Amino acid sequence: MANEKCKHELCVCAAQADSEYCSDHCKDAVDQDMTEIKCDCGHPHCGA
Ligand SMILES: [Zn+2]
Ligand SMILES: [Zn+2]
Repeated sequence: MANEKCKHELCVCAAQADSEYCSDHCKDAVDQDMTEIKCDCGHPHCGA
């Protein structure tokens, strides 16, 4: 699979090769329908 964008709407990271998300944070946020005003995945170029 090529590098796809993380499925978290607010996230700008590329998804991991084995996941639709860049991180467990994004997966959990979407699974739990959490409303975030910014992505909080912790990647330095994201959520600023
Ligand atoms: Zn992110
Ligand atoms: Zn993400």
